[in-house]
Amino acid sequence: MTQLVLLGAPGSGKGTQAVRLVKEHGYNHVSTGDLLRSEIKKGTELGKKVDGVLKAGELVNDDMVLELLKANCDLESGQYIFDGFPRNIEQAKLLEDNVLKGKAYLGVYFNMPTNVLVERLTNRRVCKDCGAVYNLKFLPPKKEGVCDKCNSTNIYQRDDDKKEVIENRMEVYKSTIGPVLDYYREKNILVEVDASLEIDQVFQEVTKAVKE
Ligand code: AMP
Repeated sequence: MTQLVLLGAPGSGKGTQAVRLVKEHGYNHVSTGDLLRSEIKKGTELGKKVDGVLKAGELVNDDMVLELLKANCDLESGQYIFDGFPRNIEQAKLLEDNVLKGKAYLGVYFNMPTNVLVERLTNRRVCKDCGAVYNLKFLPPKKEGVCDKCNSTNIYQRDDDKKEVIENRMEVYKSTIGPVLDYYREKNILVEVDASLEIDQVFQEVTKAVKE
C-alpha cells in the first residue's frame, strides 16, 4: 500500500487528478489548502489566524498546517493522497516523521511551464457550495454560472487566484519546492508527469506510475 504525495505548482491540476484517483482507485484525499479554506469559512480561531496569509499567497506556519493535517487523516483506515503538503523541505520531513511514520510513499510531480500555470489559474473558478473546480476556457460549467454537480450559482474566483496574488504564489512555490523534489529524487521515490497534457492523458500517466 503506497501513499501518494502530489507535488506541483498551484494550477498544475493536482486537485483534479486527486478527485479522479479517489473515484477510480479508492484513495482518501487530503488537501491542506481545502482544510485551511474550510477553517476560514467556519470562522474558527485557526481560520482567523490564517485568513490574511492565504489572501497574500504566503505559506502558513508549518506546525499549524501539520496539526491540521494530522487531525484529518488516519493512515490506518486506507491509502491516502496528500495534496498541497509538503510545500518545503521542512514539511517533507515533518510528513515523513509525523504522519507517514515508515509507511511507503511515492511523490508524483506535476511538471508544467509557468506561463501555462498562470493562464490556468486566472481562468479557474470554484463552486463555493460543493468545491467543484472549473476552468472558464478548458472546463467551463455546462450552463454559465451554474455548478454541474450541485446546481449552485455560487461559482467564484478564489481571492488568491487573482493575478497579483498568483505571481506571489508562483514565487513562493518556486523558491521552496526545489529541495523537496531533490529529496524525493535522492530517495528514488519521485515520478514526473507532464501536467500540460489533457486531463485524461495525465490521469493515465499517473495511473501507470502508481502501478509500476
Ligand atoms: P492550495 O489550495 O494548495 O493552492 O493552497 C492555498 C493556500 O493555502 C496556499 O497559498 C497557502 O497560503 C496555504 N497552504 C496550503 N497548503 C499549505 C502548506 N502545506 N503549508 C503552508 N501553507 C499552505
